[in-house]
Amino acid sequence: MAFSPLNSSSSIASRPLGRTGVSVSILGLGTVKFGRDAGVKYPGGVRIPSDEEAAALLTAAEGLGINILDTAPAYGNSEARLGRLLRSRPHPWFVITKAGESWDGAKSTFDFSESAIEASIEQSLSRLAVPQLGCVLLHSDGITEKSENGFSGALRAMQRARAAGVIRTIGASVKSAAGASAALAWADVLMLEFGADNAMRDIASQAAERGVGILAKKALASGHLDTLGREPVRGAMTRTLAIPGVCSVVVGTTNIDHLRENCEAASRAVDELAMQRRNMETGA
Ligand code: NAP
Repeated sequence: MAFSPLNSSSSIASRPLGRTGVSVSILGLGTVKFGRDAGVKYPGGVRIPSDEEAAALLTAAEGLGINILDTAPAYGNSEARLGRLLRSRPHPWFVITKAGESWDGAKSTFDFSESAIEASIEQSLSRLAVPQLGCVLLHSDGITEKSENGFSGALRAMQRARAAGVIRTIGASVKSAAGASAALAWADVLMLEFGADNAMRDIASQAAERGVGILAKKALASGHLDTLGREPVRGAMTRTLAIPGVCSVVVGTTNIDHLRENCEAASRAVDELAMQRRNMETGA
């Protein structure tokens, strides 16, 4: 893993996260690999970075102007490590975590009951050592999201925590268009995987109309870049950031060179999209 010091003075663009009042960088940093090396399908497996390497990655991300940090209780000790690493950092991170899925080192279990979600939020606040979480997303199992009242207890717990001010925004990381559609009724933020699924694109448009902020996950096919065609990183960033409603692409990486490449690709994508829009408006 190549960790080189980053020397960048330019800051990545931001977009409003729906109507949450939060402005987010168009690239976010996913942290599965900060804490979990089993039960994941990344090519070549996972080597969890040392504290020094993880701190260098955060420093690089801060220098690039990235403000989204995405973690979860299901990402092994990612939350606890971030809690330690963020302590001495004044950077205004918008920390996103999840609730509903737990990982015991060998398998996941899911519990979307009111008491489980309440306990999960308290645990995340403690592990991340922050007075307020930027966002808590239900970490969907892909099944409960399709049942009419599957998230009702979870929702009560999250809404209560938001009203108490310990969570700024709430939402869901879902696996299906049906789940995303159902969550539109209550979510401030949705995390979606796009791929070739047109139904997800329709949901993103509806979300944008409702003011729900959309985060894209797995835009780099969880590292299987060979499935993404020519210029995979640049192509994936352009395709994803062009989807109406998408505010930020959350990409997991533990490699500073990849982080920098992703940042450049995302920046170039939004520049090109802005130029295309201007050309359409002026008929050029
Ligand atoms: P992803 O962002 O599509 O891909 C991450 C993988 O791509 C890592 O193995 C990373 O390896 C590699 N990569 C990143 N940039 C690269 C580059 N420029 N060139 C070559 N390889 C590159 O998939 P993901 O991590 O599964 O999902 C993204 C984030 O979404 C997660 O970190 C998490 O925060 C969130 N999320 C994930 C899931 C899930 O089920 N996976 C579910 C919900 C939310 P290196 O470390 O070597 O860069």
